[in-house]
Amino acid sequence: MNNTEKRRVTILGSTGSVGTQTLDLIARDAQRYDIVALTANRNVKELVRQALAVKPHLAVIADETKYKDLKDALAGENIEIAAGKGALVEAAQRPSDWVMAAIVGSAGLPPTLAAARTGSILAFANKETLVCAGPLMMDLVAKEGCKLLPVDSEHNAIYQVFDETQRDSVDRLILTASGGPFRTWTRAAMKDITPAQACHHPVWAMGAKISVDSATMMNKALEVIEAAWLFNMPEKQIEVVVHPQSVIHSMVAYKDGSTLAQLGTPDMRIPIGYCLAWPQRMKTPAARLDFTQINQLTFEAPDPERFPALRLGREALRLGGTAPLVLNAANEIAVQAFLDGQIGFLDIEKIIETTLQQGFITSLESLDQLFEVDEKARAFARSVRQSLLR
Ligand code: NDP
Repeated sequence: MNNTEKRRVTILGSTGSVGTQTLDLIARDAQRYDIVALTANRNVKELVRQALAVKPHLAVIADETKYKDLKDALAGENIEIAAGKGALVEAAQRPSDWVMAAIVGSAGLPPTLAAARTGSILAFANKETLVCAGPLMMDLVAKEGCKLLPVDSEHNAIYQVFDETQRDSVDRLILTASGGPFRTWTRAAMKDITPAQACHHPVWAMGAKISVDSATMMNKALEVIEAAWLFNMPEKQIEVVVHPQSVIHSMVAYKDGSTLAQLGTPDMRIPIGYCLAWPQRMKTPAARLDFTQINQLTFEAPDPERFPALRLGREALRLGGTAPLVLNAANEIAVQAFLDGQIGFLDIEKIIETTLQQGFITSLESLDQLFEVDEKARAFARSVRQSLLR
């Protein structure tokens, strides 16, 4: 693509936190983009608002019961409307130059894999896809020549300072973690944490699921697994350090003792903009770092006693095969139950640990087998949830 051609863009999960921030950047230079498809789950109102603003060729709502609402609201707009899981995959397969994979959870897996098959540039936010299907996804990326650009701020930071030509000289990846809203809380105090408290992140404004994951530090566990696949690194070479100011977004330590970092204000439009403009860079509205105003940058080791999720994530990564998939399935069931007020905050880790111990761990052979194991793990996690209901 040269600079005068429009970039054809598809946004999977356009109504979410990452999706809306992607559209915010696009709106600032709208004539450069041709919007192929936007997708949502149930939020018709936001999808309609976006569609009227950017006029995509296709608007998809995953929940089929919302099809008529969407169709009526966009009547006469010359926008194709579709609904259902198959339509999400179809949207992901439409010829595009650039696809943002920003559906939350394992629901994003089929469309993200479909987008990878097109060989386009894939801005990759849906970390659950790599956690559940790491080997399948990376094989596909290699086979189809798709350009995978990490959106997660940590992985985007590493991507920016990881010298692929010096891979053998990399000592370790250092993922930074804000520590979440309960970084300094005791286990006793964590017992009564409410969904509203867990969703109120001290630094980042994000969707509900990833906010709870940050609060339990499961988000960092998923990110360790994501980093292992994205950068082809063994678990023992991926370190996590808590850095509450979230100024350093992650680092690569080289064997000569040099450590390279990417820094910035905590604004997802920086990594999203990096992916959107790649291989160039674009101007974003994110606040600039003012080093004279940063009093201190602090670092601490994660506390495995108060935040066992990181240990569980590492165990799953070491076990390999379907273990990360089982971890993710149990986490999704547990987080939803917590958000629905059915279980307590500390019950989340109980559901995950019990489900992981139950088994379901085999080698990961195919997508069909993946969905089978995923369903079994979810059913088991639901049964554990039943025993913990409030
Ligand atoms: P949100 O919950 O804000 O948005 C999720 C998007 O996915 C929405 O468009 C939602 O539609 C859609 N969606 C939800 N469930 C389904 C489903 N079953 N089928 C189809 N579409 C669905 O999530 P975020 O934007 O926060 O996160 C998206 C992904 O990016 C996650 O994997 C997260 O881990 C990752 N990420 C997010 C960051 C952030 O700052 N938010 C940072 C780094 C990574 P609807 O609006 O209709 O519900």
